[in-house]
Amino acid sequence: MDFLDIIIKKRNGERLTPEQIDRVISNYVDGSIPDYQMSAFLMASYFNNLDREETAGLTRSMVNSGSRVDLSGVPGFKVDKHSTGGVGDSVSLILAPVVASLGLKIGKLSGRGLGHTGGTIDKLQSIPGFRTNLSREEFISAVDKVGVAIMEHTQDLVPADRKLYALRDVTGTIESIPFIIGSIISKKVVCDPDGVVLDVKVGNGAFMKDMERANELAVGCKDIGGQFGLSVSALITDMNQPLANSIGNALEVDEVIEVLKDRVAGDLREVSVNLAAELLLQADQVDSLDEGLGKAREQIRSGAALEKFRQFVENQSGNPKIVDDPDLLPQAGAKQSVSPSESGYLHKLEAFKIGQAASLVGAGRREKGAKIDPAVGIKLERRVGDEVVAGEPVVWIHYNDRADLEGAVKLVKDAFHVEPSSPEAPTLIKNRIC
Ligand code: URA
Repeated sequence: MDFLDIIIKKRNGERLTPEQIDRVISNYVDGSIPDYQMSAFLMASYFNNLDREETAGLTRSMVNSGSRVDLSGVPGFKVDKHSTGGVGDSVSLILAPVVASLGLKIGKLSGRGLGHTGGTIDKLQSIPGFRTNLSREEFISAVDKVGVAIMEHTQDLVPADRKLYALRDVTGTIESIPFIIGSIISKKVVCDPDGVVLDVKVGNGAFMKDMERANELAVGCKDIGGQFGLSVSALITDMNQPLANSIGNALEVDEVIEVLKDRVAGDLREVSVNLAAELLLQADQVDSLDEGLGKAREQIRSGAALEKFRQFVENQSGNPKIVDDPDLLPQAGAKQSVSPSESGYLHKLEAFKIGQAASLVGAGRREKGAKIDPAVGIKLERRVGDEVVAGEPVVWIHYNDRADLEGAVKLVKDAFHVEPSSPEAPTLIKNRIC
């Protein structure tokens, strides 16, 4: 059967065999299937879906498209964490030192930000000197010795994902759940963890706009991950407002340090310790989630997680002095406040628009490969449910270049909605799949 017949089969809603899926993926990666035919296949798959067996086949073929990291020589329970992407989502930088300070080993491949969402690699690169391009040996050695390593994707790990993701992005097929599952789980499998926790974001700033799809994705990832021997649990968390109060690379690192110094509570810390508790439970370090939560919080309270963060930064050639003096992080030259015109309560602070505004002043990329400014971004003074006063700042925009400031101010103004009465408190953790 040639590739055209496979496209037609999927277009007609028929099931593909694992061999057929494998041919599609390997021939696309080696260049023998052109983008125009693959686009048709993606669209046919988007409308007619892939069932669980097809999704497992897709994931396996994606894993086999490149090499794998071998952590078998590293003793201990190895873990990984994945977020489906959001605004002000710097959870990895808190969760990783928390669990590593308790003896778990976390080796993570991370990505850069695109569009309105941020990326862990961009955040880390805002730390002076920090290296994210580790060799395989450096990565394994860091996981072993420090307990935490984060590096950027390399060409040889899941090359199918890089190629497919780029095509999905420009063909309106990015939302296909089987392809998201294949993308997430293949990238986890090649990093050789024992346990994985997923943070599936739901809301206006997330890929998943509704709970039904978020649940479907989480259950699918757990199921397919299990077929590869991974223990997977997932939390579905709110992404209607930004998770952290800072959005933008150095600003987010600054807030992470504040959380690790136990000076800031709030949603970012809550999601981080809850996800950490999931990993501690998977590793059998605790008997219940409550016990895991207690342990994770204690690592922050005692300063152990902060110390691990410092070691992690230093080990990847970053300047560890940022921990004591965050002013060593890049700083924007100017700030502009945005205030409501009426007093009342904040009912909405739309993550999508805030993320777009941060991107507009240079914190993110509007197209792949574009340069970002590590210093700029947005700081929230208020969150949903807070009282606001006309003329008093709700948001500060940190910027260097005035060029897009006007557009950013407009987006921020559109992002918040004030009403006279106080709203119901938003639910931060909406579901748990385990
Ligand atoms: N995150 C991923 O890693 N891949 C997707 O396709 C979507 C979200």
